[in-house]
Amino acid sequence: MKYNIEKINEISKVLAEVVEEAIKTESQAEVLIGDVEMAMRESLREIGCSALKCFLENADGEVEAEIECACGGKLKYQRRREATLWSVFDKVVYKRAYYADCACGKGCAPVDRRYGIEPGKVTSGLAHLLALSGINKAFDDGRKWLKEFLLFEVSENTVRAETQKMGELQRQADTELVKETQDESGLQRRERNQQPVPDILYGSIDAAKVRIEPRDEKEKAVENRETWRDLKVGCWYEGEIVPNRQQSVRQKDKAQREGVVLRAKNQQYFCDIEKAEQFGKLLWARGCAIGADRARILVFICDGAVWIWNLIVYYFPNAIQIVDWYHATDRLKRIAEEAFPNSSGERQTWLENVSEDLWQGRVESVIEACQLLEKKSSLAKQSLLYYGNNMERMRYAQFRAAGYLIGSGVIESGCKQIVTQRLKLPGAQWNLDGAIVTAKARAAWMSGNWQKLVAARSLLPLAT
Ligand SMILES: [Zn+2]
Repeated sequence: MKYNIEKINEISKVLAEVVEEAIKTESQAEVLIGDVEMAMRESLREIGCSALKCFLENADGEVEAEIECACGGKLKYQRRREATLWSVFDKVVYKRAYYADCACGKGCAPVDRRYGIEPGKVTSGLAHLLALSGINKAFDDGRKWLKEFLLFEVSENTVRAETQKMGELQRQADTELVKETQDESGLQRRERNQQPVPDILYGSIDAAKVRIEPRDEKEKAVENRETWRDLKVGCWYEGEIVPNRQQSVRQKDKAQREGVVLRAKNQQYFCDIEKAEQFGKLLWARGCAIGADRARILVFICDGAVWIWNLIVYYFPNAIQIVDWYHATDRLKRIAEEAFPNSSGERQTWLENVSEDLWQGRVESVIEACQLLEKKSSLAKQSLLYYGNNMERMRYAQFRAAGYLIGSGVIESGCKQIVTQRLKLPGAQWNLDGAIVTAKARAAWMSGNWQKLVAARSLLPLAT
């Protein structure tokens, strides 16, 4: 935005004087830059409050005797009525023309309607910041942290409400997308406005447990007992080669062994606490949104739960299926520990040989090696089925030759960021809805879709 520099300079001079005076009256022995900064921030905040009030009162303009009501009827001028809003500068009280007396029973303040203000509520600018705190920190912790940034207090409940409102917008967007992609004409509409699609598109799915626990009497009436529910998390993403100069020490090692190192980019996370069937619709919908229905090659990398492969086969029968390399190889490590508890040499040799077989996609050899350990390790016995059922999903040499990612780090990290780093934070207590919408809001942030939610949030008062 362009501002009138001369006016800004004038204001700055006056502000400097105001701050200087205020500091003098404090009669502090030593004044450091931090004190000056803080005094300026506080006065700027005060200026923000009164400037916002002036702005809205100026914008109110001339009073008219009658205006049109949204219902088509007529609203009559009543008086200038006071209203409050909670802005990024704190509480602002302003007066604006108020019209009422329409047959429909509704009243209206044109300036509120014009700027999307909900009197008595938080502005979209403040809502954005509260929700940003709420997806990153426990609500009460966020409240304390926000005070340092905003220089005024908000309640824990306000932080929670605004965070969940943002997540609710993501839920609505998901619901609409599901509806649109379940219906033939919706899909055809999408076909007509085709965006470029990556050549190889990846998908991953996983789930993590979340404790659902009613917070108060009202919630207890609905869901009385504490339960653990699966938060299902999915991600669509692309792969790219990590350039030499950006490689970490670990990646440099890997590059020497394997030639290239791949990483994920453009991650699109989505999540829900829902039955697999319903979650499948979301998988399909969010996939269609980025062209998964048109990509040349689709690759799914997952940890191997049956419900996950079932969804993939149902929606994307032609996709390449890969069992996450780290899950497959970690199981070998656990088998070796169980089978050779006392001999680290034997354990090491077995593990190296079998891991190499797995790395080369010789799953038959892996199965034979496990068969030989059947008597020594119950995990080895159980794993016969695991490696047997997933044989074609473990042809790692082929997958690597084709240039595919083989690890599902993206989805592990997604579950960690949503569940471990937010839903399970100390002080977190969730009802079902709260957990779902907070997770969805965080997933939107992780996917770079936050600004879409902020834009939808600022339109919210106009929709009601
Ligand atoms: Zn009306």
